Amino acid sequence: MSSSSFKVIIVGGGPVGLTAANALHQAGIDFVILESRPNIVIDAGSNLVLLPMGLRFLAQLGLLEVFNNVSSPLGKIKRFDHVGNNLGDANFFIHHKENHGIAPRVVSRHALTQVLYDALPASAHARMHPNKKVRSIATTPSSATVHCADGTSYTGTIIIGADGAHSLIRSQMRSLALANPSTPPSLVNDDHPFLTTYRSLWIRFPTQSDLLPGDANETHGADLAIQTFVGEETSVIGMYERLPQPTAERLRFGPKDEEEFISRWGKLPLSEKVTVQDAYDSKVQSGLVSLEEGVVSNWSYGRIVLVGDAAHKFTPSTGAGCNNGMVDVVVLANELARVVKQGGETGMEDITAAFGKYQEKRFETVVEGCKGAGQATAMATWKSGVFKFVDLHVIGSKRVQRFFMERAAPGIAATPALEFVEEAGLPEGRVPWLKSQGLRAIKA
Ligand SMILES: Cc1cc2nc3c(=O)[nH]c(=O)nc-3n(C[C@H](O)[C@H](O)[C@H](O)COP(=O)(O)OP(=O)(O)OC[C@H]3O[C@@H](n4cnc5c(N)ncnc54)[C@H](O)[C@@H]3O)c2cc1C
Repeated sequence: MSSSSFKVIIVGGGPVGLTAANALHQAGIDFVILESRPNIVIDAGSNLVLLPMGLRFLAQLGLLEVFNNVSSPLGKIKRFDHVGNNLGDANFFIHHKENHGIAPRVVSRHALTQVLYDALPASAHARMHPNKKVRSIATTPSSATVHCADGTSYTGTIIIGADGAHSLIRSQMRSLALANPSTPPSLVNDDHPFLTTYRSLWIRFPTQSDLLPGDANETHGADLAIQTFVGEETSVIGMYERLPQPTAERLRFGPKDEEEFISRWGKLPLSEKVTVQDAYDSKVQSGLVSLEEGVVSNWSYGRIVLVGDAAHKFTPSTGAGCNNGMVDVVVLANELARVVKQGGETGMEDITAAFGKYQEKRFETVVEGCKGAGQATAMATWKSGVFKFVDLHVIGSKRVQRFFMERAAPGIAATPALEFVEEAGLPEGRVPWLKSQGLRAIKA
């Protein structure tokens, strides 16, 4: 462990919080994780697609092999309309593999968090605390303290808010900014920074019938689109339904809403033989959630910094939300590793500079990613005549798909890696990964 007095309190033990634990462990920076659920690794939530940008982090930590054992590679995307007409395949995942040497893979949230948890030693597990719902935070000129619902509190040098889209840390950050009369208005985030235009019913169910592991099917049409990702044992669908009105308010749904959703859309096809109703009837798990969209303006205030869904929320159509959260952590960890002084105090100016550089390096990419995800959802749900036209007559073209992926490839190849961990065994494709500028020795 570090010889520095610098200590990070990570609030939230989801995929991004656990990525932060791994990155800080590699950097030799002390941390604790506080997670409100009863266990750090739980079997809940939709499956996730990890793209080359997220897989680079796992490769760097030597976790690719173990991850491959619990995930399935994705290839061709078959596209249908609501009545089963073929809209032409999409080869985006195949281009990812050609360009970067790694095929996108689908994994359950449970398996991903288990891989990230198991990568850490027992000494790190001892610093992960479930059943710790953070209620409030307070900062002083030299420290930051979080108070939990059970009456305990934890003090550290900084707080990383990895507590998801409805982040308490983000709202506490806002309250602290408002309470300080010298805070410029530009540093105060909106109370409701995200807009919800869609909601999603996701269903996990046993892989069946003509759905084959590795298949990725999409069903497109007015107001509703479906993505199906087929794994070895289970498959997952995400259904994206446009709401009558976008809203900035938090939406919550119950079992009745889910039933009503299925009665409306149950007949839609996932493949030639399987319908939404078939998937729902054999479900292992499901959930109806709102799909917030947006990027928070300020990702830090004082000793507090946001990562993952707490800082930005994408619609899931491009499978980029969690992937971007993992990259946030890489960039933040690199900046922290630069300023954490071994054997001494790290000053507030250093922390402010590190947080500033972190946001500067991530913001534009994340805004573009969020916009792209929104456009993909708008196109798949035929939000306007133009989107419908592009979906039906343009996006199915193999030349158009190749053009988009060629354009995206240099940005993907430039995905940041940890600057203090040797990169070995990273698969290579046509477009070489941009390597970091020499390894920095930062460990004590
Ligand atoms: C249907 C669907 C499909 C998706 N598919 C993909 C995909 O294919 N690829 C992809 O990259 N992304 C996908 N996403 C997005 C992805 O799920 C999120 O981007 C990702 O989960 C964000 O991780 P996170 O750790 O930042 O937040 P979360 O996953 O929300 O985790 C936050 C954690 O913080 C804890 N917490 C919250 N408040 C507190 C508190 N006060 N005190 C202590 N702990 C707290 C929570 O219990 C939770 O464990 C999808 C999302 C949905 C809804």
